[in-house]
Amino acid sequence: MEYKRSSALFAEASKVIPGGVNSPVRAFKGVGGTPIFVKEAKGAYLFDEDGNKYIDYINSWGPMILGHAYEPVVNAVIERAKKGTSFGTPTELETKIAELAVSMVPNIDKIRFVNSGTEACMSAIRLARGYTKRDKIIKFSGCYHGHSDSFLIAAGSGLSTFGVPNSPGVTQGTAKDTLLARFNDIDNVKSIFEANKNEIAAIIVEPVPGNMGCIPPKSGFLNELREVCIANETLLIFDEVMTGFRLAKGGVQELYGVEADLVCFGKVIGGGLPVGAFAGKEEIMDYLAPLGPVYQAGTLSGNPLAMAAGYEMLKALNADVEIYNRLEEKTAYLEKGIRNVLTKNNVLYTVNRVGSMISIHFDKNPVIDFDTAKNGDNQQFKDFFHNLLKEGIYIAPSAYETWFITDALSYEDLDKTILAIDKVTQN
Ligand code: PMP
Repeated sequence: MEYKRSSALFAEASKVIPGGVNSPVRAFKGVGGTPIFVKEAKGAYLFDEDGNKYIDYINSWGPMILGHAYEPVVNAVIERAKKGTSFGTPTELETKIAELAVSMVPNIDKIRFVNSGTEACMSAIRLARGYTKRDKIIKFSGCYHGHSDSFLIAAGSGLSTFGVPNSPGVTQGTAKDTLLARFNDIDNVKSIFEANKNEIAAIIVEPVPGNMGCIPPKSGFLNELREVCIANETLLIFDEVMTGFRLAKGGVQELYGVEADLVCFGKVIGGGLPVGAFAGKEEIMDYLAPLGPVYQAGTLSGNPLAMAAGYEMLKALNADVEIYNRLEEKTAYLEKGIRNVLTKNNVLYTVNRVGSMISIHFDKNPVIDFDTAKNGDNQQFKDFFHNLLKEGIYIAPSAYETWFITDALSYEDLDKTILAIDKVTQN
């Protein structure tokens, strides 16, 4: 495969855009080499500027559940754009998509739309802090909730439960209010509550983490988080930016039957346009401006193009009673194929999967949290990534990312992928 044009475009981009990209993971820093520049996409495939075709397992990091350039979404955006792209006033469409989302997701009465997953999570913790009148939050190491200051925090040293900034520009003052816990370790969470009595506004969690590979929650872990939150009058925030409308119509709340106080969405809910949202019970959501004291706003929030795309997307997912079964079957088929070839080729690996989220770690031990996710063989992942790319299979350029399966994938595509994995893992 040739990547001449992508390389030239990357060189040009790097002169005017920091690192040549508008979001760091795209730069292939974790795997080396030059990112491919995508020209267009349709269904399960990406086409790059050099004319190469790839089966896409990133799917814009999740939202393309129904495939790229899904026609009802594309047509809705075109028709909507002809009538104006933004008004800064309420539109009927915002109510329609809100009603639909509220009807699909359990346990939420009201939803507010924003422009990204970052904004959704940032706003949800502000609301939780305002509502509970407490400052501290618990997040889990390895979970990602966007790039707002409160989340760019790493675990402190030793026994300290306080976090420290993991990016210059995040202040110590902010870091002290974010407490870091280990995913899947309820005793660790309880000890943090013990040490911070009546101070914790919220736990924010990816209920099925997808940002350290895919990590299934241990049986009962999410219920235990729910109970700890009730006992401490702390809000439980599910960050369903990846899992919402993907793992089930009603997300992880539906899948595992655990209720969150606030739920954050992104990606899917905009059909691939820049959208996020956060939602919850009326009593909490009405704490937001203009009804309540917690301020939150956005010129382009509820943007008509984004709402038109998201509405078509949610309508399609809501109407298709078989979609989640099909996604489960396709991903289970892929998982089985991957396990067969990696075992045959004597590769040390762990495959984790929940529904249509799946990841491979090059380590034989169970991957249950950030520490175990870090044990994977990085060099092996880099080779795997680049060799698959040459075979026309596009997976995320980082060992910590999840593959997102789209319904646009055919069984032929899946077979081709399994064959390619077999080829690139033979010694
Ligand atoms: N939460 C989760 C779970 C995510 O995976 C992401 C993005 N990958 C975000 C929040 C942030 O969303 P955005 O990139 O739209 O700001």
